[in-house]
Amino acid sequence: MSQKNSKLSPIPATKFYSSCSQVKEKIKDIEDRNKSYHLINNSNYNLTKERMPQSLLGPTQDWAEFYRQAEALELADAKSTSINILLTFVYEQPNGHRKFIVAHPEVYWWYFNRALPERRCTYEVIPEGNPCCLYLDLEYQNDLNPSKNGPHMTQTLIEIIICYFLKHWGLSVTKKNVLNLDSTTPTKFSRHLIFRIKDTAFTDNINAGRFIKSICGDIEEYIATDGVAFHDVLSYFKREDLEELFIETGKRKKLFIDTAVYSRNRHFRIYKATKWGKLSHLVRAKDCKFKPIKENRDKELEIFLESLVTYFTNKSDLHLLEFTDESGPDLIKYERSTQFKNPSQLTRDQYQSSPYPAIDKFIMGIVKPGTIRVSKYFDDRQKIAYEIIGNRYCANVGRQHKSNNVYWIADLKNKIVYQKCHDQEDCADFKSEPIPFTDELCFMLDEDDDDIFFSIDVSCYDDSNLSDHNHSL
Ligand SMILES: [Zn+2]
Repeated sequence: MSQKNSKLSPIPATKFYSSCSQVKEKIKDIEDRNKSYHLINNSNYNLTKERMPQSLLGPTQDWAEFYRQAEALELADAKSTSINILLTFVYEQPNGHRKFIVAHPEVYWWYFNRALPERRCTYEVIPEGNPCCLYLDLEYQNDLNPSKNGPHMTQTLIEIIICYFLKHWGLSVTKKNVLNLDSTTPTKFSRHLIFRIKDTAFTDNINAGRFIKSICGDIEEYIATDGVAFHDVLSYFKREDLEELFIETGKRKKLFIDTAVYSRNRHFRIYKATKWGKLSHLVRAKDCKFKPIKENRDKELEIFLESLVTYFTNKSDLHLLEFTDESGPDLIKYERSTQFKNPSQLTRDQYQSSPYPAIDKFIMGIVKPGTIRVSKYFDDRQKIAYEIIGNRYCANVGRQHKSNNVYWIADLKNKIVYQKCHDQEDCADFKSEPIPFTDELCFMLDEDDDDIFFSIDVSCYDDSNLSDHNHSL
């Protein structure tokens, strides 16, 4: 979706694929692989039954469905112009399979509204490297936090973020710029915030994530030091309001902001959508003060379009914000510790599988014929370390080590795995080229609820897909 396609060239629906032979070939390819590609009856959307009325000045009616995210993103990118933008949506089907749909948002919305409410389980795919609005996912379990006032916490957080926009970029942002969506249930407080600032967006969601993580770091540090030190933003807030932002998770106290939502090709639930089987649709919060930049006669469509994190009516006019000032979490402390060098010292608990069996399986596919001897999950850094036996191949030396083992790190935030090595002389700071998670794995991790993740059968992974990696390790 770069500006390289800035020329306006409307494509008739029937010629959607034919104007780009490469894409056409790709689709032929996919059709061959997935014979059910044409079977519209297992789709949520029966386009043969009822079609959206077309208008001359309306958006392009193009519509394509895929089983593979990469193919969908490729088509959306190839067919978008700076003023006619196609987005990739993903929804989960009753059979557990997901489908990716490439369409103009207005067209998608028309069909989405005609799907059964319980079937509106759609997410927007936030493509890697694409401009996006600032978005936040706020949540906590009610039973663990009975005295919390979620709406008040949300307002405090919005005010803090507004101050940071002013501090870093001199941008004047108000609560009218913030779309505040709610899908709270009796068991869980849950909000999405989308900051819509005229002609302004972040370079990509990685930069947006760094901005939010840096604010979280400031709040944590400020509270940890008892708020004695002066802070140019936080000192202007009441201490009890800042303390209120910390919630109980059962394991530890943390901010109610989910900082894992800024990963590569993230899926973010769309307006009026529900998680599968939950019937808790995302709606405008009662205390939402949002005023759209561009009014639309159809108020529901208006909110939907504004809520899309990567949708801009004209991308070529965007001012892009970058935020590079973050020293991310690292594993140096852990990797240099002796914990893994002497396996006999490990307790029985540490020999258990990680909380993410699907990632364990992914790692096992990579290290074949070796296997995982032990894994350790680092909740605060969202990383898992895997000790490997039966395969000492180290990418740094390009062969098997004779005496020391290697280990792998799964980085849940960045959706990658990479190899590290216990050889302190030759490989002390070595880190292999990262291998990205499969789309399947990303999708599972992107679900807001861990319980969904655990319930998915991991046998859907085709180990043969991973065998290629063995050569490069
Ligand atoms: Zn090595």
